[in-house]
Amino acid sequence: MVKLIFNFKDRSLKNKIDKKNILGGKGANLAEMGRLGLPVPHGFTISTKVCELFYQNKKKLPKQLVSSIKKELLVIEKISKKKFGDATNPLLVSVRSGARVSMPGMMDTILNLGLNNKTVEALAKKTSNIRFAKDSYRRFIQMYSNVVLGIEAYNFEELIENYKMTKGVIMDTDLDANDWEGLIQDFKKLVKEKTKKDFPQDVHEQLIGAISAVFLSWNSNRAKIYRKLNRIPENWGTAVNVQSMVFGNMGNNCATGVVFTRNPSNGEKSIFGEYLINAQGEDVVAGTRTPQHITKKARLDSKTKELSMEESMHKIFLELKSILKKLEVHYRDMQDVEFTVENNKLWMLQTRSGKRTAKSAIKISADMVKEKLISKKEAILRIDPNTIDTLLHPTLDEKVSKNIIASGLPASPGAASGKVVFTAEESQRLNEMMQNTILVRIETSPEDIQGMHAARGILTARGGMTSHAAVVARGMGRPCVSGSSEIKIDYKNKLFKASNITVKEGDIITIDGSSGHVILGEVPTVKPEISGDFSKLMSWADNFRKLKIRSNSETPTDSKTARDFGAEGIGLCRTEHMFFDEKRILLVRQMILSKTIEDRNKALIKLLPYQRNDFKEIFTIMSGLPVTVRLLDPPLHEFLPKSEKEINDVANELELPISEVNNRINELHEHNPMLGHRGCRLGISFPEIYEMQCRAIFEALVQCKKNKIKSIIPEIMIPLVSSEAEIKIMKNLVTKIAKKIENENKTKLNYLVGTMIELPRAAIRAKDIAKHADFFSFGTNDLTQTTFGISRDDAGKFLNDYIENKIFEVDPFISIDKGVGELIELATEKGKKQNKKIKLGICGEHGGDPKSIFFCSKIGLNYVSCSPYRVPVARLSAAQAAILKD
Ligand code: PEP
Ligand code: MG
Repeated sequence: MVKLIFNFKDRSLKNKIDKKNILGGKGANLAEMGRLGLPVPHGFTISTKVCELFYQNKKKLPKQLVSSIKKELLVIEKISKKKFGDATNPLLVSVRSGARVSMPGMMDTILNLGLNNKTVEALAKKTSNIRFAKDSYRRFIQMYSNVVLGIEAYNFEELIENYKMTKGVIMDTDLDANDWEGLIQDFKKLVKEKTKKDFPQDVHEQLIGAISAVFLSWNSNRAKIYRKLNRIPENWGTAVNVQSMVFGNMGNNCATGVVFTRNPSNGEKSIFGEYLINAQGEDVVAGTRTPQHITKKARLDSKTKELSMEESMHKIFLELKSILKKLEVHYRDMQDVEFTVENNKLWMLQTRSGKRTAKSAIKISADMVKEKLISKKEAILRIDPNTIDTLLHPTLDEKVSKNIIASGLPASPGAASGKVVFTAEESQRLNEMMQNTILVRIETSPEDIQGMHAARGILTARGGMTSHAAVVARGMGRPCVSGSSEIKIDYKNKLFKASNITVKEGDIITIDGSSGHVILGEVPTVKPEISGDFSKLMSWADNFRKLKIRSNSETPTDSKTARDFGAEGIGLCRTEHMFFDEKRILLVRQMILSKTIEDRNKALIKLLPYQRNDFKEIFTIMSGLPVTVRLLDPPLHEFLPKSEKEINDVANELELPISEVNNRINELHEHNPMLGHRGCRLGISFPEIYEMQCRAIFEALVQCKKNKIKSIIPEIMIPLVSSEAEIKIMKNLVTKIAKKIENENKTKLNYLVGTMIELPRAAIRAKDIAKHADFFSFGTNDLTQTTFGISRDDAGKFLNDYIENKIFEVDPFISIDKGVGELIELATEKGKKQNKKIKLGICGEHGGDPKSIFFCSKIGLNYVSCSPYRVPVARLSAAQAAILKD
């Protein structure tokens, strides 16, 4: 029989991966901390397998689990010398979720479980603290009723607020034991009213209810959204940890806190965290009280008066510090730790690999290599390529003057400007209209997660560096300024005030998550560069990777950016993108709408110098590197004139009546342009277009040679080929023009001719096509479109339904699908069989997707090509792929 429950001293799981998969991250690490001899309150973990069984079994816990739980409770009782439900010395437990990877705040937790009308009295007597006992009981009723009984939290908050108003006090701390007792009675009445049952007094019933509720929370809306955003598989499930309670809220010799072994924002090697005296863990994370610093240095740096833990609890701070060191050396990674101090005794409640910004991840990895804690390979594997993007975000232009209206904590780096919104819904609504927003909240909660994702940046008035807003924003790579107490938010009137300025919904502000500044209006930004540790890590990555990285770019600016980011050439220069320029579009329209070859040539002759110049600029920027130029590909309708003015202009240029131009537009109309007259089909029908493009490429090459630009070898790429005959005709065309230019200039030209493989037939017939191709470049955008028969332009309308119904695990236009992958493998094998020297690459959007890059590395392609800003992502992913293959 499968083991469903493991206590923290159980050593039956040996394998590290099994431990995580079965016990979840939190459970595995609690057991590990125990093994290291650290002070961990005893408890047990109900495995993720139970979550699976729970959902298979109509959301009921397996029968044998109940007796195992009772057995494990006996062990906790023995160790803690307390008894569950006992009327003199009661044991209280916490019940927490814990998936394989942490999903902060997304699932439910219940604390103080085991309190009832009797045990609360015993707790009061034992601690000689009636207020504490009553406060704990009311917290438990609130949490349990909300999470397990489904009564909305505001019902309880309303009762507390009304009571405080009648009493004439503001803070919860102004309420005494009698007040809480009165409220407990009110809470119980509310429960009876809502559920028609009394609040459960049987502690075992409480425990089973809480465990089921935590499993149910795996499928809460917010957890589902979080999984989708972070690509966490639905079938992983959560484990549940039941642990003996320790209290940070029994008085001033108690505290609770969250601490990172290094700075999660910038990676500095110093303890970084926050704590609160006389509080429970959720008070720190929820951002309801602004916590204090752990170290004296951090307190002095932030110029706050409240004593740091280092000053107020010095001995315990030293103990904590040495535990943090031990944990970091043991896990060989930066740790995020939760602790509680109960009556001057330190307890460790959690450790996990700390979430960090990309900047911090890079510094920590580079430092740990220097400290000989990890190898270079490990350092590279530690960086999530998807997060590198955030380092390439523009930063605020230092030279521009700024109207700083408030400051807060620099919770997640990067700068962002946008319209102020006060709700997650508004942020989503505007995002759908392509508008940038800054979500401004007093504090965020897990319900806001979609709105946070839709916003460009997040600003909160309350909460510290470990508040929900800060943790989630760092995970998402969104800039965030948290705990800006200088801003006063008025949700009702949709405005906030700062420095005597009123900022209304819709006004534009800029936040700088690196400095914590809130600035009125939009601030210009500057392009970042790869330097310091980032550049060091990238050069290590370059030494490991086998794949070359090229870029998809067609403008000089993009090509320059790509080269600065380390591109080793251009893998796709879409020549049609060059045609959209204001000065050229009329000529392009003239070319398309010409009926005779003479008319078309007139337009082509005028286009030639533009194209030649473009290529010259790009070849110069990419000197010494390969550049793949694709001949005209797109469906022609993209260029047809649409507005009346555009039609008039073309009519004038062609000296034709408007009605004739309209007729030609109608003739060119296609029902399915993506499968229409595009790609090499254009070259077959109008060879003069491709001839002009080849002339432009070769003449640019000749000019570069004359200018002594380090040689480049252009790779001329024919799009949308499906048959041997097509590539043969096109190759002849290219060779013919090359010879002409060689003769005209009395020079020899080096170039390659190849094709895109972007149609299933091309993949299947790759052997024949390879006879005439020096290279294949997989156009996986079209290959995905044509393999599935799903329009890449319209898929967005139903892709979500496909993902929700688990037909697609991920969008096949983002990560290469298995079927499409098989076609690529087939074409690779056949192409190599025919032509051992054939160069193989990919230039669809997948070229910048880490998962797809792994695939490309595995099947032995020579390069991937992606957009300029993805180049560093691709360099890193390719290195990871090579390391993991070894
Ligand atoms: C492709 O189809 O993958 C490709 C790179 O070409 P385009 O996106 O221009 O159709
Ligand atoms: Mg294509």
